[in-house]
Amino acid sequence: MHKKDLFCLIPKVDELLNEGRIHLLFERFPRTIIVDTVRACIEEIRQEIIGLNNEEIDCYCLDEDRLIQRIAHQVESAYSMNLKRVINATGVVIHTNLGRSLLSDEIRDEVWNTAVNYSTLEFNVETGSRGSRYTHVEGILSKLCGSEAAMVVNNNAAAVLLVLGAIAKNKEVIVSRGQLVEIGGSFRIPEVMEQSGARLKEVGTTNKTHLLDYERAIHEETAALLKVHTSNYKILGFTQEVLLSDMVALGEKYNIPVVEDIGSGTLIDFSKYGLAKEPTVQESIAEGADIVTFSGDKLLGGPQAGIIVGKKKYIDIMKKNPLTRALRVDKLTLAALEATLRLYLDEKSAIRKIPTLHMLTMPFQEIEEKAKLFLHSIKQLDLKHDVRIERGVSQVGGGAMPLEELPTLLIALKPLDKSVNQIENELRNRSIPIIARISDDHLLFDCRTIKREEFDIVLEAFADILRT
Ligand SMILES: *Cc1c(COP(=O)(O)O)cnc(C)c1O
Repeated sequence: MHKKDLFCLIPKVDELLNEGRIHLLFERFPRTIIVDTVRACIEEIRQEIIGLNNEEIDCYCLDEDRLIQRIAHQVESAYSMNLKRVINATGVVIHTNLGRSLLSDEIRDEVWNTAVNYSTLEFNVETGSRGSRYTHVEGILSKLCGSEAAMVVNNNAAAVLLVLGAIAKNKEVIVSRGQLVEIGGSFRIPEVMEQSGARLKEVGTTNKTHLLDYERAIHEETAALLKVHTSNYKILGFTQEVLLSDMVALGEKYNIPVVEDIGSGTLIDFSKYGLAKEPTVQESIAEGADIVTFSGDKLLGGPQAGIIVGKKKYIDIMKKNPLTRALRVDKLTLAALEATLRLYLDEKSAIRKIPTLHMLTMPFQEIEEKAKLFLHSIKQLDLKHDVRIERGVSQVGGGAMPLEELPTLLIALKPLDKSVNQIENELRNRSIPIIARISDDHLLFDCRTIKREEFDIVLEAFADILRT
């Protein structure tokens, strides 16, 4: 045999396209995807043959059945969405890489209605004239936060950029050195400030900043005092931060606005539910902050958004700033945000219906019930692997409450005939990827973040991967 002879055995593109099983694919997938895939698979085989040495040439066998299966499989994956749902078994509730907060099932209709119909996005139905997209959430945000005014942009990084750009461009903003934070994804306060055109005036030291440090730094170029919630780390020990209320008093004395980037932005006092105390937006407003910014998809549990609440005179300046147009929020986000905020009008229903809040405050008993049910179903699969329930901790994530350890239960699986890494990899590469944690020779599935409705998907994966 020569390579030349092997090349002759490769089916032609047209032959393959007319083959019965490939032909059936035309009913489900676009022609260009099928043709491209057939060409690519043929090319793969050509390359395979080119790479053969003399001995391998003699025993090479082109299996047409396998080729066709490979084409069908690749067509399917080429046409599947790149952005797909996953099952979060990591126990990190606000997992930034997995999309942070999940929207509530309750608001499905509101979001979908806005998506598939024309809407009052920028139309005032009472007057029949042009309206503003910000009006839809301004009322409810102001009510929930106790603020005079509110607006929403693309995310909290954009909110900080807009606030500083609108009120402090070419002027100075005073920040404590202990609060020059970096948030995941390279959001750094000093860099965002630079982009906004505001000049950073650092005061104090990493561990201690005093009110006098702020006061001494104030001069005619000072446009704002900025407080940043160090959401993703804690400085412990010999430390001092200036209270917001003291900064507000100082700001009033010199007529300088106080801005707080509160990061996660919660409207609920989590300490009532046994979690760490995070500052709430209402408290910041009540203490007199002129402007407060926070994320929509961290502890709030809504869509990605940057929310700005505070005094009307400042919010009005921001609404008119040209950056607002570039950072503006889209209608699907607005619909999801308004509908999520409405759930907050009754705290109990917010806790029950907003997935992020529900997962964070989930009673241990509920986790236990889930874990038992899940283990019971896994046992029915009759896998020849060691599976049991273990105690562990879930994390809040999203850079919020970094020290909080939420007690949870994990399904711990110790595979017998495959490596944990291999199984983790196979789970991750399914059409609905399942993202689990590895700990030594175990795979861990946190029952807090896997929804009950997702058990069947995980069970099917276990059956496929672990039974063989
Ligand atoms: C998360 C965070 C941001 C960035 O918010 P995004 O909504 O991700 O843009 C900014 N500041 C603080 C303090 C944060 O915790």
